[in-house]
Amino acid sequence: MQVFKGIKIVNGIGIGKIKIYKVPVYEINEALVSDQEAELARFEAAKTKVQEQQSALAEKERKDGREETAGIFDAHAMMLEEDDVIDEACKELLSEGHTAEYAVNKGCEAAEEVFKNMEDPYFQARSADVVDLKNSMLDVLFGNDTESLQGTEPAILVAEDMAPSETVKLDKSLLLGLVTRLGSSNSHTAILARSMNLPTLIQCQDISDDWDGKFAILDGYNSCIYIEPEQEIIDKLTAKQKEDREKEAKLQELKGKPSVTKDGQKVRLYANIGGPKDINAVIENDAEGVGLFRSEFVYLNSKTDPSEDEQFAAYKKVLEALAPRLVIIRTCDIGADKTIDYMKLDKEDNPALGFRAVRICLSRPDFFKRQLRALLRASAFGNLGIMFPMIISKWEVQECKKILNECKEELTREGVAIGKYEIGIMIETPAAALCADDLAEEVDFFSLGTNDLTQYTCAIDRQSANLERFADTHHPAVLRLIRETVEAGHRHNTWVGICGELGADPTLTETFLSMGVDELSVNPKSILPLRGNVRNVDLSGLKKNNNPEPKKESEVKAEAKTEAKPAKGFWGRLFS
Ligand code: PEP
Ligand code: MG
Repeated sequence: MQVFKGIKIVNGIGIGKIKIYKVPVYEINEALVSDQEAELARFEAAKTKVQEQQSALAEKERKDGREETAGIFDAHAMMLEEDDVIDEACKELLSEGHTAEYAVNKGCEAAEEVFKNMEDPYFQARSADVVDLKNSMLDVLFGNDTESLQGTEPAILVAEDMAPSETVKLDKSLLLGLVTRLGSSNSHTAILARSMNLPTLIQCQDISDDWDGKFAILDGYNSCIYIEPEQEIIDKLTAKQKEDREKEAKLQELKGKPSVTKDGQKVRLYANIGGPKDINAVIENDAEGVGLFRSEFVYLNSKTDPSEDEQFAAYKKVLEALAPRLVIIRTCDIGADKTIDYMKLDKEDNPALGFRAVRICLSRPDFFKRQLRALLRASAFGNLGIMFPMIISKWEVQECKKILNECKEELTREGVAIGKYEIGIMIETPAAALCADDLAEEVDFFSLGTNDLTQYTCAIDRQSANLERFADTHHPAVLRLIRETVEAGHRHNTWVGICGELGADPTLTETFLSMGVDELSVNPKSILPLRGNVRNVDLSGLKKNNNPEPKKESEVKAEAKTEAKPAKGFWGRLFS
């Protein structure tokens, strides 16, 4: 038996075989080959596999009642048929002695041009599908598709590091645990692991290819992984896993119970999600709404820029399934660690301080408008909140709202129904927190993004594996900015939530409630434990000492903004 240490992201026990996840190097060989038959066979096999994948996707979409998207995948499968444009272009290159990878890359580029130059806009739009098919075939040829990388059996995945774009593609039903050599506790991959409640260890320096296929136990509680553990450890940790499952079952008793403190203060407990696949988790964990739908995962899950219709389908599905709950959809927050090839963004020295989120959207209005139109169309199917990320200035909010209004006018002219919606912004920069009074005049709600707020306030790169020791998630500067934002919001009748990871920190529940936070949006698995915490809090002592006026539940703001209200909060305790 061997034991290796790391830093745990999620408590819990994962038991099973190890699968080493290794992305192959992606280099296209330009040299000619002598065995043309073999390359043709590789090309045909890749094509058939991608056709099967596309047909399976079509079938799944059809089963879920999404006929429109099913049609897209059917069309993809057809575009790869014998003698069609792609097949012909690739085969010509293969007959010249090129490798299958080269033929797919160059052949698809040629086919893309053919579609782009067609008169009919429908066929022009098919060029994006060719790019998608090219990427899928290259993935298969390089062994870079999820099935080859992850395997087909349940396993503890061990990797150097995982990008959010890789993590979202994993088959969750096969994941028993995740171990990486790199990584940081506030990265998006860590956030995804928490949302899956997946036992996860980062910064495990000793990972090794030799582990592949070996039996192991990941012990999140003790931040370690046992390779080929002794029977005594197996028995102990299997019992602990069983106990965890029983505890989880007990939490179910909190379903349907109000999220209210002993002294009667209510707070809304919402879920953070990444797309329609998380709808069940919202319902199963009894979330009262969605406080953060990270729409960029709709983009990360797609090989090409998702069309207005594709986005509309995703937003509508979530809104419809969760109505009448409020669903806050954050506009695309691409950049920093969430990179997308098709966006063709320049490499930057400091991407976290760079061209990201609303900065991209305001610089690429056509891209932004596609999303806003999709959101407005979806608003007719539920209770929508639209939230803009990475705001630092009032003019940015005003410009976002102006473009949103242009989209609204366009759609109204087109006769499209638009429902009611709220507008909010993320407070995730010190600039926004310090100007919250000004910003509150523009919006219905604030949502504190404590992951970035901590990064920018403390000058701690949330991606850096070397800074764990310095990263103080309870730093007084961050807590002070949170309190000031809540107070500024309430002065303007703007309700304030927290959607960063700090919202789920059980040691801060009482502090946040005493500040008057209206909503906590956390990964779905944290909803019921958090409800348990809230129901155990009693703020009556604090209220007596610090502020005689109990905070009333802040309802979703429907009425127009009225005159300023006095600040609330019980900060003295924290800094006395
Ligand atoms: C945050 O910054 O706290 C947040 C919720 O957004 P993200 O983690 O996606 O950057
Ligand atoms: Mg953020």
